[in-house]
Amino acid sequence: MSTQTLPAQNQKATEVVSYDPGTGQEIGRAPLSSPEEVREAVGKARRAQPGWAGLSYHQRARVILQTRKLMLAERDELALLISRETGKPVAEAISMEIVPTLDAMHYFAHAAEDLLRPQKIDIGQYGLMGRSSSIVFRPLGVIGIISPWNFPLATPADEVVMALMAGNAVVLKPSELTPLISLKLGDIFTRAGLPPGLLNIATGDGSTGRALIDARVDKIMFTGSVATGKRVAEAAAKYLTPVVLELGGKDPMIVLEDADLENAARAAVWGAFANSGQACASVERCYVQESIAPKFIEQVLAETRALKQGLGTDTDVDVGAMSNENQLQIVADHVNDAKQRGAKVLAGGQRGSNRAGWFYEPTVLTNVDHNMTIMRDETFGPVLPVMTFTTEDEAIKLANDSIYGLTASVWTKNIAKGRRIAERIEAGTVMVNEVVYTHGIAQTPWGGIKDSGYGRTHGRMGLLELVHPQHIHVNRLSFLPDLWWFRYSAQATRLFSGLASHFTTGSLVRTSWLLPQMARRLFGPRR
Ligand code: NAD
Repeated sequence: MSTQTLPAQNQKATEVVSYDPGTGQEIGRAPLSSPEEVREAVGKARRAQPGWAGLSYHQRARVILQTRKLMLAERDELALLISRETGKPVAEAISMEIVPTLDAMHYFAHAAEDLLRPQKIDIGQYGLMGRSSSIVFRPLGVIGIISPWNFPLATPADEVVMALMAGNAVVLKPSELTPLISLKLGDIFTRAGLPPGLLNIATGDGSTGRALIDARVDKIMFTGSVATGKRVAEAAAKYLTPVVLELGGKDPMIVLEDADLENAARAAVWGAFANSGQACASVERCYVQESIAPKFIEQVLAETRALKQGLGTDTDVDVGAMSNENQLQIVADHVNDAKQRGAKVLAGGQRGSNRAGWFYEPTVLTNVDHNMTIMRDETFGPVLPVMTFTTEDEAIKLANDSIYGLTASVWTKNIAKGRRIAERIEAGTVMVNEVVYTHGIAQTPWGGIKDSGYGRTHGRMGLLELVHPQHIHVNRLSFLPDLWWFRYSAQATRLFSGLASHFTTGSLVRTSWLLPQMARRLFGPRR
């Protein structure tokens, strides 16, 4: 493919161009939104939001469920578009994008009211003083979503649904590599009856993302690379705009000798090569216990060799093209670095040469170590480096030897042991006998630690990122002055000192020793 066709070449234009990574052919264009247009979109969202927030959860859910209905009816067309714009197999467009999105729509439409129900707080002895406290969850206003290209439907759509159900309006800035899917998402919402202004799609590149931050939305939900995440956090800090950062990963898979070997091998292959390895939770490092390593690697190779690579639109293809040339080059660099440092290539190890698009062969490496880029930096491509270990402690140490902490997995038939090890691994999610897929569970929180970012999306924790918890405190005894109000005196100081030693223990009995002094202060003159 000639470099003239790379999207980066078009970024100075007024449009972003969308390419089919499997063929290199242009499939459509979208506007490169200017800062002015982004500001207008945020303004529109701000004007529309109060009306939307004034609706009941039930009314908002009706629009989400109607959107879901249309998406379900149009899933084949949508899957084809996803496959063409990303290169992924249609099967993955459905299983890894459309299914989780429909599930999230169903879940949040039905559960948001319950998850955001006002909560009473137990305030201890203050309750006996006629006080009560509760939390109400209020929408933030306008949520800016900046999303990547690897799951161009599921990643932003879930966040759009959560933000809307929480009563917010949204401006979505999709990746410049996959603008058409977001435009399609916006179109489905519009046809489902979402009132104007509530979901605005600002297509464009990094400059458009930057403009969205500068337009002073109320929160930025960012998903993308660590480098960009840091830039986003820095830009948002100028306005004190809160940010959720869902960044990269270098996710480890630990296979213990008592694991179901056959399934662990299949999981490793799917976890490393699904979506051409371009998932933030892809298996990027595999650690297998020495005693079972030869057998495990043999099974991994058999599975890998059986995979069919090709155009994602062919239904029997397992591994599609990578999304873009830059990403493919990173993968090639990592593999070359590993080879130069002594890694053995047991499968793949090169660009898929027989095609026009951005294909990299599913690659299995052994003889790898932590001095190699392939075990340190996010590869984000179809590469499975396998390293051996002897003890559990060693495996945990290797898994934690990373700047990232998104997900990890432990494979063992001994669930208690799996849980024990899971709790020692530094990651936002640790799966026992599973890989990758929990982003697809709407109910569970998603997010990382260390350089994988902060904040959460999905589940109740994700929903709470999109609201502001407002504390409402009520004093029913409004006719009584508080003990701690003016005026002060030696007597008052003695009472406060008594409060320090008795009230703060939480013991009613001990506090009651102060009742005479309290009554004098409440009902008598204060001097
Ligand atoms: P990227 O960081 O290059 O781009 C992400 C988005 O940020 C794009 O929409 C881009 O246009 C925008 N952007 C770029 N510069 C910007 C700036 N200065 N200000 C504001 N916005 C800007 O990431 P990518 O290459 O699109 O995606 C791949 C990365 O995303 C990988 O590192 C992957 O691990 C990560 N990812 C993480 C998760 C997760 O949930 N943790 C999920 C998917 C992908």
